[in-house]
Amino acid sequence: MALDTNWVTSWISAAATTVGEHKAELNTLDREIGDGDHGENMDRGLRASVDALAKLPADATPSAALRSVAMTLISTVGGASGPLYGTAFLKAAEPVGDADAIDGETLVALLRAARDGIVSRGKAEPGDKTMVDAWTPAVDAASAALAAGSDPAAILAAAADAAEQGSDATIPLVARKGRASYLGQRSAGHRDPGAQSTALILRAAAGAAG
Ligand code: ADP
Ligand code: MG
Ligand code: MG
Repeated sequence: MALDTNWVTSWISAAATTVGEHKAELNTLDREIGDGDHGENMDRGLRASVDALAKLPADATPSAALRSVAMTLISTVGGASGPLYGTAFLKAAEPVGDADAIDGETLVALLRAARDGIVSRGKAEPGDKTMVDAWTPAVDAASAALAAGSDPAAILAAAADAAEQGSDATIPLVARKGRASYLGQRSAGHRDPGAQSTALILRAAAGAAG
């Protein structure tokens, strides 16, 4: 089944719910290697995005919905994650174009464009202990799932699984981007909060498609 504007709305609503439930945990992760506000930032941004989506016209396209989320995250999230996730959603809208529904191929292009947007904005490479370490394996897994003939829901489930593994894999890494990089070697042994929020958000995307 292809994904429509209702999927985007359900995704962001589910993402707001799960990030809200994990707000304290994300703050704690960020307190260990940053400034302790990542849960707060993402909770605020995603709740504002749910409100913004509710105000879209009934016939809004999926790309219009993704752009609305992007602009809301950029304007409501103060931290580094606001422009990064904002750019991700802005770029995610591009391959969707004017389409009313997102097929598997477009879905993988959407995820890839989101990841590439984060990389071009933040200049992090894989292994730098950032959200890129969740997004990159997610894109690779989504692409492999598409090639294996999976439908959009299964593509997203594969992406979410890989993002969770990518988040786990940030624990031993030494941060080379963002606030955590100020800690140098002392950042090792802690999970990156942005990689964890990415895993939650992609799991929400899969749940909304299933
Ligand atoms: P801030 O660090 O400004 O308080 P947040 O706490 O909301 O912002 O977000 C921190 C997260 O942002 C990090 O855990 C990391 O995943 C991500 N991040 C920070 N800098 C970069 C970057 N240059 N590229 C990719 N992701 C980054
Ligand atoms: Mg922070
Ligand atoms: Mg901050």
